[in-house]
Amino acid sequence: MLVSQCCPICENPQMVMTVKREKLPAMQNYVFNKKKQAKNIPCGKFTLAVCPACGFACNIDFDPSLLRYDEGYDNSVSSNVMVHYYEEIAAYLHQKYASNGGLVIDIGCGKGTFLKMVTEMFPDLQGLGIDPSYEPDNMSEKNKRVRFIKDFFQEQYIPEKPALVICRHVLEHIQFPLFFLKSIERALKKFPGVPFFLEVPDLWWIIENGIFLDFCYEHCNYFTHDSIACTLEIAGFSTEMVQNAFEGQYLWCEAKTALSLEDTVGCKTTPSQLIDALTCYSKSENLQILETREKIQSLKNDGYTVAVWGMATKGVVFSYLIDPDDDLVDFCVDVNKTKQGCYVPVTGHRIESPDALCKASPKSLVVIVMNPAYLFEIKELCSNLNLKATFMDVKGEIL
Ligand SMILES: [Zn+2]
Repeated sequence: MLVSQCCPICENPQMVMTVKREKLPAMQNYVFNKKKQAKNIPCGKFTLAVCPACGFACNIDFDPSLLRYDEGYDNSVSSNVMVHYYEEIAAYLHQKYASNGGLVIDIGCGKGTFLKMVTEMFPDLQGLGIDPSYEPDNMSEKNKRVRFIKDFFQEQYIPEKPALVICRHVLEHIQFPLFFLKSIERALKKFPGVPFFLEVPDLWWIIENGIFLDFCYEHCNYFTHDSIACTLEIAGFSTEMVQNAFEGQYLWCEAKTALSLEDTVGCKTTPSQLIDALTCYSKSENLQILETREKIQSLKNDGYTVAVWGMATKGVVFSYLIDPDDDLVDFCVDVNKTKQGCYVPVTGHRIESPDALCKASPKSLVVIVMNPAYLFEIKELCSNLNLKATFMDVKGEIL
């Protein structure tokens, strides 16, 4: 259905409504010490609209006042899979853009985990991280080559020519992404040719795999290969490459400030193909959620203990959609120690350490893995705990 809504990227006067949820927990990466506090977190409405001209997709009912990005915001992932992934990105970027050393600026660096790792791996690099949720720790105080600004990005925070500017998993959270990108472009214009590396989730991957839990309130924007290239170009960048990473879940986008007349990134799909795919997906989504819930219910009826593994965005949205009253899932598990013993927003599920699963009967444990990219690591952890479990994906398929 067409709605009169101006596209925030290309200013096309209409957008097409697709996936709709009356309510979603406003925050996923914020946990609470008290259940009552967690349950009082607001929900927001989610209506994904797609621009038929440029393919940009966003939640047109997004209200940023429902979110908080302060010290309590924690989207860190305590996993060797993520450590190896960070090493892969760091090695790629160092070799391609910063082999002569220099300053790496990480806009929206969170707690600075990636930036600290890059500067540890490559002593010829200095780091500057900018993020309102940054918290100082002993390690960053010891490492003199990396410094942080605890704030939202501002143009004046780039006073000298950097070797590289990165911005990972930030743009999908920003209500006015073009305004944000233009402010980075203005800051970098003084230094033509500075490479800009952007990473966002891939909307096509979500649709093609039917990952209903990846539509979340914190992510108000959703990009494809083509719409991210288009967005960067409207912001004044020249997009040089867009490729998939992390088993296809993410997009790596490489751009420069100097304008190029060549169209270097070819189109993969048209906006109308995206709209058709999302319309088709949204029709089947409710049935898919219902089927998953029924599958878990029947496992419970057969005497199985059911655990959800991974209580970041995916686990929080999954629990809300599948078990809103906290009476179906027995355990919600996460390896992030700071989340253990805390409660997730809205549903109030308690987050446990993997050890808690030892209480389950060993013959009848089912672990629902929120992100199969971590499957090997999860199986290894269970084996170290002498836990025998059946592993399933979010659609109930055995892994
Ligand atoms: Zn548009």
